[in-house]
Amino acid sequence: MAVQAVESATTRPVFGPAVALSCRECGERVPLGPVFACAVCFGPLEVAYDLAADDPEALRRRIEAGPPNIWRYAPLLPVPEDVADSPNLGPGFTRLVQADNLARELGVTGGLFVKDDSGNPTHSFKDRVVAIAVEAARAFGFTTLSCSSTGNLAGAVGAAAARAGFRSCVFIPHDLEAGKVVMAAVYGGDLVGIEGTYDDVNRFCSELIGDPIGEGWGFVNVNLRPYYGEGSKTLAYEICEQLGWRVPDQIVVPVASGSQLTKIDKGLKELIALGLVEDRPYRIFGAQAAGCSPVSQAFKGGHDVVRPVKPDTIAKSLAIGNPADGPYVLDIARRTGGAVEDVTDGEVVDAIRLLARTEGIFAETAGGVTVGVTRKLIENGQLDPDLTTVVLNTGDGLKTLDAVAAGPTAVIRPSLDAFRAAGL
Ligand SMILES: *Cc1c(COP(=O)(O)O)cnc(C)c1O
Ligand SMILES: [Zn+2]
Repeated sequence: MAVQAVESATTRPVFGPAVALSCRECGERVPLGPVFACAVCFGPLEVAYDLAADDPEALRRRIEAGPPNIWRYAPLLPVPEDVADSPNLGPGFTRLVQADNLARELGVTGGLFVKDDSGNPTHSFKDRVVAIAVEAARAFGFTTLSCSSTGNLAGAVGAAAARAGFRSCVFIPHDLEAGKVVMAAVYGGDLVGIEGTYDDVNRFCSELIGDPIGEGWGFVNVNLRPYYGEGSKTLAYEICEQLGWRVPDQIVVPVASGSQLTKIDKGLKELIALGLVEDRPYRIFGAQAAGCSPVSQAFKGGHDVVRPVKPDTIAKSLAIGNPADGPYVLDIARRTGGAVEDVTDGEVVDAIRLLARTEGIFAETAGGVTVGVTRKLIENGQLDPDLTTVVLNTGDGLKTLDAVAAGPTAVIRPSLDAFRAAGL
């Protein structure tokens, strides 16, 4: 047994097909490690691969035979081949819902789909990114998992740490929704509320990494950020596979830090380069809440620079006033012929209700943002209703109950008379 373990450790690279980290700005390559910024130009590092594109049919069959979670894409991720056997939450392969009722309401004729990531183990898309970061933390020998979070990430880290046997200590703004706080606390790790905004929390975590207290700590979205980001690619992979290995014409993605949107683009490019899908154009649209819309403002103003804002919106999971990947979101929206748009809190609530009433999906506020922005983009002619469109719902409405004032139509005595009197 012992010999076998050593053998598999040496013959199976811990990072699978990943070969290096490379700088998005200057292309500088460094060995795979717990670093996130380029030493030459301070640009963000991302995972680079050596992917074999010689036999797409074989790769497609291998993926289709894999487990019904993100590990079916292990050959395209920085993880060992046998990753599915390690203790993890097995996130992903969530429903792609053909949303015909919503399509009728919005006037979409080209096919409308909702990728419903509320079905993940901790009910948000964050389980995807955390799963990859945890594997990296294991490889680097970290013992504590941490993060700066707008809510969903804290819960995802807490749960993944509990399952994988790490200590966890996560940081959130002190004024989050009760549903997010309970979800982050219940897994038994340490949860720290910081008196400030998410941007303050993030700055604090950067200081902690440089301090001896933070030694042995893997911050999934800071020093493990290159690995974390790769988890978002699986959304692109799943959408294409679930559409029959086809790239949708248009995708509407929520934007907080912008990581998810940029990695969805990366995932689509990889599938095209590997020959797993046909090379055809696609448009990527970013969605923000008006109360925290620095990227949308820059897009509409024609700027390349994203000016930080102080967030004030019910869409707290997207409330990042100084988004790290903002400029890349602008690039991608412009390059693909997409756009970045924002909606008011009132429009977010209307959209949550619209999605619930038409498709039976109860989205968190971030889902209200994408559906609301989709409606707005159709109205202002930027999104083509005759093309196939995928809208992301990245979280569960149960975590943001306060956003929606809904309750019983009537409260009555248990009698037929009372029911008749209620006029229903
Ligand atoms: C974190 C999060 C996002 C996207 O975050 P990025 O930082 O842009 O990757 C989207 N929706 C929900 C619900 C989230 O929690
Ligand atoms: Zn660089």
